[in-house]
Amino acid sequence: MAQSARADMHLRPALTALAMAAIAATISFGQVPPYDLVIRNGRIVDGTGSPWYRGDLAIRGDRIARIAARIDDPAARTIDVRGTVVAPGFIDLHTHALRDIVDVPTADNYIRQGVTTLIGGPDGTSPVPLRPALDRIGSARIVPNFGTFIGQGSVREAVVGLANRPATAAEIDQMRSIVRQGMQEGAFGLSTGLFYVPGTFTATSEVVELAKVAGALGGIHISHMRDEASRVLDSVRETIEIGERGGLPTQVTHHKVIGKANWGRSADTLRLVDEARARGVDATIDVYPYTASSTNIASALLPAWALEGGGAATLMRLKDPAARATVKAETVRLLRDERGGGDPQNVQLARCDWDMSLAGMRLGDVTRGRDAAPSLENAAETVLWIVEQGNCTAIFHAIDEQDLQRILRHPATMIGSDGEVQVFGRGSPHPRSYGTFVRVLARYVRELKVLTLEAAVRKMSAFPAQRVGLADRGVLREGLKADLVVFDPAAVRDLATFERPHQYPEGVSYVVVNGQVVVDGGQVTSARPGRVLFGAGRATRQ
Ligand SMILES: [Zn+2]
Repeated sequence: MAQSARADMHLRPALTALAMAAIAATISFGQVPPYDLVIRNGRIVDGTGSPWYRGDLAIRGDRIARIAARIDDPAARTIDVRGTVVAPGFIDLHTHALRDIVDVPTADNYIRQGVTTLIGGPDGTSPVPLRPALDRIGSARIVPNFGTFIGQGSVREAVVGLANRPATAAEIDQMRSIVRQGMQEGAFGLSTGLFYVPGTFTATSEVVELAKVAGALGGIHISHMRDEASRVLDSVRETIEIGERGGLPTQVTHHKVIGKANWGRSADTLRLVDEARARGVDATIDVYPYTASSTNIASALLPAWALEGGGAATLMRLKDPAARATVKAETVRLLRDERGGGDPQNVQLARCDWDMSLAGMRLGDVTRGRDAAPSLENAAETVLWIVEQGNCTAIFHAIDEQDLQRILRHPATMIGSDGEVQVFGRGSPHPRSYGTFVRVLARYVRELKVLTLEAAVRKMSAFPAQRVGLADRGVLREGLKADLVVFDPAAVRDLATFERPHQYPEGVSYVVVNGQVVVDGGQVTSARPGRVLFGAGRATRQ
């Protein structure tokens, strides 16, 4: 009782001794424990990067009520975590969760890693307008919190279509107002996917015009860059330029250097970011901890001009022998020098809706299955055949471990999965959806010591929270929202592999979202406390 009275006195100094006695009496009858949950004996890694400290943490409602060396007050529930780590719930600001969060509102593959907030709408792709999608998610009783960016590619598609031409002044005006609406509906900023159609048809100056609108409403710009292979340096320069001219924070998302010929260039890309920061441009990075990327086959292995106008137009081009030959030559080059990693076996099919049995197969083997030797030429023919069948998503093993570690170590780099909410057992997706955050803790903190535990947690909590303006999350501090994860730093381990991706990690024992326990002793509970989160622009809505 003594400690609870002290806490109350601290909060309400005017409280009389009599009233305090009355409160103490009520508590002693067990009717109103001061806390809903107390987590005891934690190694608290608070998200700021400060060294861990030993302590107890108390939750009341959806907030952290108290953190102290020892909390003895009664609580509806007490969990002794016996010296394991208590950290802020992880915030993933590059997810494709919009695709499946309504069908799989539990988002088990994220929750079991300790991810408590998912941000969707990356790579220039989002619903336009956002409101109906956010309403749907808001009523889906989701487990993690969810927020989104507004996507430049989707905005351009709504106004200009999939055509390769500059937008007119009137169209730019129209796109500006769609971005403004998206920000007012709660987007955290503008995402671009300048690698994809139609983002790739957009001039830098056109992006800048939309970035200005997002920035004026408190948003950031986050970019899947125009090129992550031979022109990666130009792409980083462009991302910085958009931030500089647009007057807003700018982020290179899922930063990587694709293709053997380009390996090592992260030293130069990071120098560009350092130079930009030194002259006052707020440029940052996120990364996932794998040496393979994932996207759809057509975007990765066909030239952008072949995709102009959409799927039907692409198929028409492939029917024309001359056009097909030109596309194929470019596909051979992309297999050799870029995403193909120089060998068709480096391309692994993830999901083909028209033939689910292809999931997990390597492009060289698929080519062999079509009675052709797995040469680059024949593999390119298989690629065109796949596009004609209806396209597939695939995994591309063409990233160097040294580049990955260099990017991971950089102080302006945070963690983002680029994953999606998984339907358990469907297809053979990139393991990043199941393992990203835990893999950083297991492989890059414990095994390789690339990062300290505290630095890694900062990159997964306080840093992304600050980036998107979530002032009440991402740090363990009294008064902030109670999103947190408990894990054993000696045992936490990702199990998802490229061969067997559908595996949950080990070593994450408790996860709390908005004060409610969603993973309890390693088991997912029935609680559905997730909320839709909104960016700063929403508050300005008239
Ligand atoms: Zn992307």
